[in-house]
Amino acid sequence: MSAVARIDLAAFEHNVASIVSAVAPAAAWVAVKSNAYGHGMLELADNALTAGASGLAVLDVPAALALRSHGITAPLFAWLHGTHTDFTSAVEHNIDLGVSTIEQLESIARVPGTARVHLKIDTGLHRNGIPDELWDSVCAAARGWEETNDIRVVGVWTHLADASLDADNAALDRFDAAIERARAAGLSPELLHAAASPTAIRNPRARYDVVRVGIATYGISPFDDVDGVGLGLRPVMSLHAEISSSTESQSIVSAGWTDGVPQSTDPGTFIAVGNNRASVLGVFPGHTVIDGSFPVGTIVDIVGGNGATAEDWAGWVDGIGDEIVTGIPTRVRRIYSR
Ligand SMILES: *Cc1c(COP(=O)(O)O)cnc(C)c1O
Repeated sequence: MSAVARIDLAAFEHNVASIVSAVAPAAAWVAVKSNAYGHGMLELADNALTAGASGLAVLDVPAALALRSHGITAPLFAWLHGTHTDFTSAVEHNIDLGVSTIEQLESIARVPGTARVHLKIDTGLHRNGIPDELWDSVCAAARGWEETNDIRVVGVWTHLADASLDADNAALDRFDAAIERARAAGLSPELLHAAASPTAIRNPRARYDVVRVGIATYGISPFDDVDGVGLGLRPVMSLHAEISSSTESQSIVSAGWTDGVPQSTDPGTFIAVGNNRASVLGVFPGHTVIDGSFPVGTIVDIVGGNGATAEDWAGWVDGIGDEIVTGIPTRVRRIYSR
């Protein structure tokens, strides 16, 4: 058996529902970028919505159009655009568009129909967003295009650095000021949003009308000081393979780094074989060597199950849990069950 990833739909729905109730009365959009952090965007979209999400945050227009073709009618928010982004199809399919530059706004205003626009203010992260000094002029231009029915500014938003509570609150002060200035320019955004998983969970002030939550819905903690289980979440994805050969002292697991096994050299790294924790001795392209002799054919838990969590692996490779699950390539078969 080559590597397989199991996706626990009940765990995903539990996580979405628990975040939805924690952030209420704010609404929650589930972030499904990077193919739902490797879990499968089309496969999970319905589950996110039935568990209470009011929309999906998708990164780019092609992903939003794929969801529309798949029959998803809920609000979809796309904010990363290139010079060739198909805004005509986006507006035609009622996709909410995040806007970070006047050029994007102009392109969006030019296509047929009234586009639903969310203006993004840069509150300090400097990862796109309209700079503070251009904000008033972009708001004024946006108001002009509202008057000709080319756009409607339905939202104002920002993205936080999630570095510290104080830094986030300073960014939120700038966000509040930008909202005031947008209103002074004659705009009336009804969807204000700033929070991703960390601030949605820990900073009620950041919730506004809607939060955009990704990693937490997949059961992985966005914090260093607590894991997903500690937050009442359940891991959604697990990675498994089998023992393909064995000597007196070592065994070969039929999955390697090309299957998403992180290349950890941390001495604490282990894979679960039943209830045993077998130390990882080496991760190779197509296999992993573990300590101990185990029967050929035994299924092992690499991530999840009895094995280490995505957070454990992230600690071993000095990364974040997002990278562990997103790093399991799409050619690894996903099995969806509940
Ligand atoms: C990825 C992303 C999110 C979700 O972040 P998580 O930390 O995974 O919850 C929200 N908003 C934007 C703009 C993002 O890029």
